Amino acid sequence: MMDKMTRIKNKYFIDFKLPKTEITININAIKKIMLHTIEFSNPTKSNWRWKEVMGILGGKIKDENNIYVNDSFAITHGNHYSVQYNKKNYIIATQINDLLFKKNEFFVGWYHSHPGLGFFYSHTDIINHLGYQDVNPHAIGIVFDHKGYDRERKFFEIYKLRYSNYGYISYESVPYIIESVSKKDEIKTLKKIYDEILFYWKIGLVESAEKTIKKWLKEFKKM
Ligand SMILES: [Zn+2]
Repeated sequence: MMDKMTRIKNKYFIDFKLPKTEITININAIKKIMLHTIEFSNPTKSNWRWKEVMGILGGKIKDENNIYVNDSFAITHGNHYSVQYNKKNYIIATQINDLLFKKNEFFVGWYHSHPGLGFFYSHTDIINHLGYQDVNPHAIGIVFDHKGYDRERKFFEIYKLRYSNYGYISYESVPYIIESVSKKDEIKTLKKIYDEILFYWKIGLVESAEKTIKKWLKEFKKM
């Protein structure tokens, strides 16, 4: 039974939870994140050469708690343990935002990779996420680690920030669905895409993810 103190404690120390969010992702957005990640952390190359990558998620918010991730855009890469935007990256991000706006879409969040490092948010990741949340209070963040498949049969986690009533910020993993893929088939489907990408790398049929985005932006400007 709950005594009086516990009740008081619960009343005053309960965490503020953000409203429950439903996230649906277009599989193509995940495929593009995988391409970007593997380009800079190819498992056939020595892992000390692996680098983190970072990009933007574009999509829609159907109602307050319904996020649809339609696409992802490779922006930049860093070193093994961190990745940050520079001035040029911000210009590209603004250009992508302008294009998304024409389709009635906008930034719904961001992604970055933790090659071989696992699923979590570092202090820097929380600060980065706050930047996206400034623009969109429902912003989500994908952390991708292809080694997660061997460890725990998953390739990524999606996070949101969580506030407590005494100014403390933490993060929590949020559920999602991949459009047209059942939960039962999800990991099998993702592994198949992963193996395909590795194969294309092996035969040299992959173009740099960041270059592809720049090219696409150039084409768009001409139209
Ligand atoms: Zn990180």
